Amino acid sequence: MRLIIFGGPGSGKGTQAKELCSRLRITAVATGDMLRQAIAEQTHLGRQIQPYVEKGELAPDEIMIQFIQQRLNQPDVAPGWLLDGYPRTAFQAEELDFLLDELNQRLDRAIYLEVPDATLLSRSLHRSRMDDQPDVIQRRIQLFHDRTLPMLEYYERRGRLLRIDGDRPLEDVHHAILNGLGIAL
Ligand code: ADP
Repeated sequence: MRLIIFGGPGSGKGTQAKELCSRLRITAVATGDMLRQAIAEQTHLGRQIQPYVEKGELAPDEIMIQFIQQRLNQPDVAPGWLLDGYPRTAFQAEELDFLLDELNQRLDRAIYLEVPDATLLSRSLHRSRMDDQPDVIQRRIQLFHDRTLPMLEYYERRGRLLRIDGDRPLEDVHHAILNGLGIAL
């Protein structure tokens, strides 16, 4: 199975991604985690994207597109994957489809975790990540609306969107996703 999951900062997509991957035996590819690790290790990539991530801005598309291309060409993801944090713009969504064409693969579903802004804000403020400072969170929520939400239309038009109410206990959200994917509990 090949899936993407998206939602605002603090929507719970990271947690749901982990649960789903262990259930479906596929690999989670979490761009935010990988970028934060690259920054911590001060790799070439880490130094390039650090100024963006720290301010809550999006890393440049060219860097992200190349990054995901390399990742999806690795053998461990051949059986299936779940992308958490990519695509994050309609442009990246289109680029992902081009990449999948090249790989002869197909995206099954794009899962959107729908959570009100007030919940996103309060959940994110309870984390203490370097990109979870209050002004940075506001910026990430704004970018989520401006840049990421247009993906809804992209996936809806292609009949691949799975919209899930994420403003519920984790377990309920998990069950709703499995149900939406047609997987027995
Ligand atoms: P959250 O799950 O809280 O929304 P992530 O951990 O997925 O956030 O991402 C953290 C940061 O990493 C983003 O604010 C952004 O700076 C950068 N980032 C991650 N994925 C992408 C992407 N696909 N395109 C551009 N920037 C990205």
